[in-house]
Amino acid sequence: MTIYADNAGTTKMSRTAIDAMLPFMEEYYGNPSSLHSVGQLVAEKLQKAREEIAACLGCSAQEITFTSGGSEADNQAIISAAKLGEKKGKKHIISTAFEHHAVLHTLEKLKKQGFDIELLPVGPKGTITAEQVKDAIREDTCLVTTMYANNEIGSILPIAEIGRVCHEKGVLFHTDAVQAAGHLKINCKEQNIDMLSLSAHKFHGPKGIGVLYAKKGIVLSNIIEGGAQERGKRGGTENIPAIMGMAAALKEACDHIDENACFVSVLRDMLIEGLKKIPHSALNGDPVNRLPGNVNFCFEGIEGESLLLLLDEKGICASSGSACTSGSLDPSHVLLSIGRPHEIAHGSLRLSLCEYNTEEEVEYMLREIPKAVEYLRNMSPLWKDKVEGRKEFIL
Ligand SMILES: *Cc1c(COP(=O)(O)O)cnc(C)c1O
Repeated sequence: MTIYADNAGTTKMSRTAIDAMLPFMEEYYGNPSSLHSVGQLVAEKLQKAREEIAACLGCSAQEITFTSGGSEADNQAIISAAKLGEKKGKKHIISTAFEHHAVLHTLEKLKKQGFDIELLPVGPKGTITAEQVKDAIREDTCLVTTMYANNEIGSILPIAEIGRVCHEKGVLFHTDAVQAAGHLKINCKEQNIDMLSLSAHKFHGPKGIGVLYAKKGIVLSNIIEGGAQERGKRGGTENIPAIMGMAAALKEACDHIDENACFVSVLRDMLIEGLKKIPHSALNGDPVNRLPGNVNFCFEGIEGESLLLLLDEKGICASSGSACTSGSLDPSHVLLSIGRPHEIAHGSLRLSLCEYNTEEEVEYMLREIPKAVEYLRNMSPLWKDKVEGRKEFIL
């Protein structure tokens, strides 16, 4: 038995998405830039997919640029806004301490180029307020970029309010919505979003394809130079099968968004209630404003990596933070940003669920995880010191 509970890392493709892709590998293989009929047929389908995606995001098809995924969309959004700002002598960028590395590393690069990067603190619940953004905006601010929902701890940010504050001050607002798209209702216009990134493989679509939405009038800078594809803003022959899979997956997710959120959040809450019973544990992230599928706990006295290996032996695929930080010994910057001490941040477990998970799977996890935590604690000399009173408990 394998229980897949790492949907924030990536998801299984849906049958709908696979079926939407196959004809574009077998039959409609033309290049949409070609003038012959085989190409032009694909160009029409491409336009249709663009319109479908735009409809899911509350924007228009011309505002959609296809990218190789969430990371590229984040890079392009931020670099474009920075270049537009620089032209006007504005080099201040506001973001948060717990962004994805696709955002943080792009900002670090801009810092080396003389931009002033301000990362807002996210507090114990792992969120920011529009008020914080308002207070941080200056005359020379060219961009506010905050994630829509955090990939590790699942907290959802007040995007529409942040967008409103940015618009009042005439500052561009970008959101990394990779964890939100297909899971939470998004409307770029209504939520005052100027730029938005999403990635298909986080909502049962294929890997290696994403979208950058940029409001009409925003001039994008190229990350990939090349042909005239994507209105000249992203060179390279379009990844047609992937675009078709993404459009189908997003439409399917948006058509079922309420029922999926309802079903998945019941499983999430079962897990949270069950895991809370483990002594010296703590839920990470906002208990209320939380992605439907996100469960993230710290267990004192254990190493997250050891727990993952033990759970893998029991057929449970989980994560200790984000897939991007595993492999490094540093604790997650997200857990540190919400104030978890290093020792506690090392003992984290993220379970991210989707509508393919079942109640039986949750019950199984609730039997196995407490046993695994206890087993690891019993092997730990540090835990012994705590139990016998030579060291203080933190949680
Ligand atoms: C997964 C993820 C990304 C990166 O998307 P890719 O398509 O894998 O490049 C960016 N931001 C967040 C919040 C993510 O969860």
